[in-house]
Amino acid sequence: MTSETQGVIPTPDQIRRAPKVLLHDHLDGGLRPATIVEIAAQTGYEGLPETDPEKLGMWFREAADSGSLERYLETFAHTCAVMQTRDALVRVAAECAEDLAADGVVYAEVRYAPEQHLTAGLSLEEVVEAVNEGFREGERRALAAGHRIRVGALLTAMRHAARALEIAELANRYRDLGVVGFDIAGAEAGYPPTRHLDAFEYLKRENNHFTIHAGEAFGLPSIWQALQWCGADRLGHGVRIIDDIDVAEDGSVKLGRLAAYVRDKRIPLELCPSSNLQTGAASSYAEHPIGLLRRLHFRATVNTDNRLMSDTSMSREFEHLVRTFRYSLADLQWFTVNAMKSAFIPFDERLAMINEVIKPGYAELRSEWLFQQTAVTSTSSSGNV
Ligand SMILES: [Zn+2]
Repeated sequence: MTSETQGVIPTPDQIRRAPKVLLHDHLDGGLRPATIVEIAAQTGYEGLPETDPEKLGMWFREAADSGSLERYLETFAHTCAVMQTRDALVRVAAECAEDLAADGVVYAEVRYAPEQHLTAGLSLEEVVEAVNEGFREGERRALAAGHRIRVGALLTAMRHAARALEIAELANRYRDLGVVGFDIAGAEAGYPPTRHLDAFEYLKRENNHFTIHAGEAFGLPSIWQALQWCGADRLGHGVRIIDDIDVAEDGSVKLGRLAAYVRDKRIPLELCPSSNLQTGAASSYAEHPIGLLRRLHFRATVNTDNRLMSDTSMSREFEHLVRTFRYSLADLQWFTVNAMKSAFIPFDERLAMINEVIKPGYAELRSEWLFQQTAVTSTSSSGNV
């Protein structure tokens, strides 16, 4: 990369075309509003607050924005309600892969909790197989539309429930069959990850990978437990690590022991800026810790969390960051390579994605910019003659 192209600020169109990697996205947080309405009609679900797709989309956004946890959680009651049949799961997963691919995502790990899709009689295995089938179908359709994407599933266990070991075993059984790892999610306060130590110890014995939602609503103790008691490979959010970083008035920075450990060990942070603004973990993009964490070279990654509730996409997350922090193509490539390095697929496959897809993709965008600059210069110089 030349110093000349180092600071290129990308346009929204270039951001959309840039290869992107997504590690933290919930399947039940990313449905198309029209799909929710259609499946509800097919399956007889009558609980939707709106049946017009546009109004329903707005309702999700407003409920997530309301600052009320009850309303926020209610949004997932509706999405999960329409994800109870095999056909619905295949469709939702296929559309997820298609939507991500159309947005320029080249690799994604999408998570869901199989235990939340059992009310119409599916077994845990049937849920996993339906979602896998959907992802493969979505990858095929995306390829036919000219977008290559690879999607891996993360199986989530709910913190308040007692099925973590069972779900961890399920993740292990479907390893290499579309499932790439494990996660726990749900309310942090009152449900420390150490409640599920048996699941994490099992996964470690199986040499399997897992991430833990930690350091979103709840602070440093949650991050510390996730890493030092449970052995998480990545932190879902982890944004509260900022509480262990002191910035003095002169701008000098001092890391506490935990923040230093996270940075030294290159623990990936699955940061989700828009989602954090909605849940109050940050008050504005400008004040979001991602700015400082990027500057301090933490292994920061950018993610969507819940595309429907936050009305977002990977491109939109990048756009917010570009607008706020004046990030260049080089910065976006840095976040993307960070994410790819932190994925749960084998090392050689991650490396191939970085060298054969991500780096060439960004190089192409930079050369496009250089070409335009040359064209502008030659036009203006010929105008002077
Ligand atoms: Zn999440």
